[in-house]
Amino acid sequence: MSLRLPSIDGLLRHPACVPLLERHGRESLLTNLRQLLDELRSSVLNGQLSAVEISPEVLAGRVGERLARQQRSNVRRVFNLTGTVLHTNLGRALLPDEAIDAVQMAARYPLNLEFDLASGKRGDRDDLIEGLIRELTGAEAVTVVNNNAAAVLLTLNSLGARKEGIISRGELIEIGGAFRIPDIMARAGVRLHEVGTTNRTHARDYEAAISPRSGLIMRVHASNYSIEGFTARVQTAELAELAHRHGLPLLEDLGSGSLLDLTRWGLPAEPTVRQALLDGADIVTFSGDKLLGGPQAGLIVGRKELIAKIKKNPLKRALRVDKLTLAALEAVLGLYRDPDRLAERLPSLRLLTRPQADIFAQASRVQPFVAELLGESWQVSAVEALGMIGSGSQPVARLPSAALCMRPQVSKRLRGRFLLNLEAALRALPIPVLGRIDDDALWLDLRQLDDEPAWLAQLPHLQVNQ
Ligand SMILES: *Cc1c(COP(=O)(O)O)cnc(C)c1O
Repeated sequence: MSLRLPSIDGLLRHPACVPLLERHGRESLLTNLRQLLDELRSSVLNGQLSAVEISPEVLAGRVGERLARQQRSNVRRVFNLTGTVLHTNLGRALLPDEAIDAVQMAARYPLNLEFDLASGKRGDRDDLIEGLIRELTGAEAVTVVNNNAAAVLLTLNSLGARKEGIISRGELIEIGGAFRIPDIMARAGVRLHEVGTTNRTHARDYEAAISPRSGLIMRVHASNYSIEGFTARVQTAELAELAHRHGLPLLEDLGSGSLLDLTRWGLPAEPTVRQALLDGADIVTFSGDKLLGGPQAGLIVGRKELIAKIKKNPLKRALRVDKLTLAALEAVLGLYRDPDRLAERLPSLRLLTRPQADIFAQASRVQPFVAELLGESWQVSAVEALGMIGSGSQPVARLPSAALCMRPQVSKRLRGRFLLNLEAALRALPIPVLGRIDDDALWLDLRQLDDEPAWLAQLPHLQVNQ
């Protein structure tokens, strides 16, 4: 067995390597060539490979693949065909063009982030969006932080540190990513005073808990579960009246929180921020990238003196949003001024309101391509399906949708492996495709298949191991 690998110098000058040198630079090319040659040398020495097979062209090809893989960013676009529209693991809301333009501007140029152009004096970054949020929610004042978890933490710490926070046992929730209300309260320095029971909490339960140690009453929107059957909860208006009678603020964490009544688009009702404030909540917190359809952010709105207190907390500085977020948020909020056109312009609302018939027609249209591609061992059908809003909005509500349902036509014993292999092959596509496995089939919910040409164009790359 001869060990005849081309020399590094020879390779660097070889015509097959010259384009790689130009594209990736000498240093990366050298490092990767050396690594590859070392690996090949050991394979040849182990007798796994005969050196004669390795031409400079083959080496250049392999190094080219490595370099291309290294250059590919870790942050990658995917097709979210899971059926969950606001998918936390897939980046939640998609921004409208108006927000993307605003982000580009903010990224490219200096801007008046904390500078008041009228007076020429130092400004406050919240001022950039305060007017718009007040207009859209009816709040007296506003501040914005990194996400809603931060909004809850900051509000609790600012208004209730070293005091008791009264909350119903039915609202001590955990949201994904280890965000648990009792833990957040503890970290905020608020002593948890839980009242009522899991299924029923009455006004008298809150009232009995109020003492000189009380700092606030908190209410949390049940985002990711629902309690049904023999239940009772106190309406916000009644709770606000009770809190105010005892000189306590009522904090309402809406989670998703919508700015408009979603039922006008045929979506399930979700409490609006304006209504919570009208009902008497003193502070309302909600996310920017859930139903609002904007960038990741936590919005804190409510009474002026309480917001002032929150803004003075040193934690605010640690949790503040950056200029790109503010630029995107302002642009998204601007679209809410024209609710009649919102569903056309705001991608998350457009996707959430896409008619089932439209999605079904799309599923029927692409079905033959996929069926042909997968061949005999799969039954591919266009079917009606049920999706979800996601991100803790309306956990039990389902969105009538349509999907490609791919069922392996093999023995029961092999089905699981077939499904996992197909799922992995879809994930390995140039733009990974994510669906869900359920009921012995792989489902691709097409509600979010906006870019059908790009999706179809890459399907021929699908390589399923079986
Ligand atoms: C989602 C949610 C949060 C956390 O919001 P993030 O924006 O994900 O930080 C807090 N409270 C409730 C009720 C939620 O639904």
